[in-house]
Amino acid sequence: MSKKLKRHEVKNTYLLRLDRGDDLIKKLTEVVQENDIRLATISGLGAVSKIVFGYYDQKDWEYIFLEKEGQFEILSLNGNVSIKDGEAMVHAHIMLADEEGNAFGGHLGEGTVVFASEIEIQELSNADKIRKYDEDTGLPLW
Ligand code: ZN
Repeated sequence: MSKKLKRHEVKNTYLLRLDRGDDLIKKLTEVVQENDIRLATISGLGAVSKIVFGYYDQKDWEYIFLEKEGQFEILSLNGNVSIKDGEAMVHAHIMLADEEGNAFGGHLGEGTVVFASEIEIQELSNADKIRKYDEDTGLPLW
């Protein structure tokens, strides 16, 4: 089965710095909502002093989160913005390195504390990606 894909063009690119102490996903959500960004891709790097990350348990259909405090470099922050319950929602995954260079990561949770971070947001045209409950996974998907 092939799907005819819809085109989205980059409307705007924003670069922003997050401040020490910001809650990473809460701040990103606040920024996109305040700037009326309803469809976008997000990428970033930086460092955090606390990380809350997790995975979606495919049997129990719930997120399991882990927390770590320390000095972690953000190797990769990837996410998107789409609409859930009428509001812009940020979905992001993060990969970090600890002081020994070991990498780990997962679904970004609330409670992650920024040390410093540089973020790029690419706002896209045709903001029609609406999240709805998916019966096969229990997740709110496009
Ligand atoms: Zn996720």
